[in-house]
Amino acid sequence: MITEDQARKKWCPFSRVAHSAGFVGATSFNRIPGTPPSAECTGCIASDCMAWIAAEQTFDIAKDRFLIPGESYSSRDPNYEQRPNGKGWCGHVRGLD
Ligand code: SF4
Repeated sequence: MITEDQARKKWCPFSRVAHSAGFVGATSFNRIPGTPPSAECTGCIASDCMAWIAAEQTFDIAKDRFLIPGESYSSRDPNYEQRPNGKGWCGHVRGLD
C-alpha cells in the first residue's frame, strides 16, 4: 500500500507511448530509457486510473483522526467508520502492506 504521490512516481507496466525518433516508422514503447515516469509518459496515474484500489482505514469521528495500530473499536459503535486514507495500490498487482 502506497500513497498516491508515491504511485505517481512509479512506472505503469501497462501504459504505452508513441515514439519514432531513431526508428523507421512510428512505434510505441512501455518505457523510454532516460525518461523518468510521469503522467504524460508511462507513469502511474493512481486514482485517475480505473485499476487503482483506494485503501480504507477506521476513522474515529470523536477524535477526528484515524485509529493507530493497537487501538480497538466496535464496528457497531457509530463513532467509527471506514474512510479512504489517501493510500492504495494498483489492482493489477498484488497489494503490499
Ligand atoms: S493503477 Fe496500475 S494500471 Fe493504473 S496507472 Fe497505476 S500502475 Fe498503471
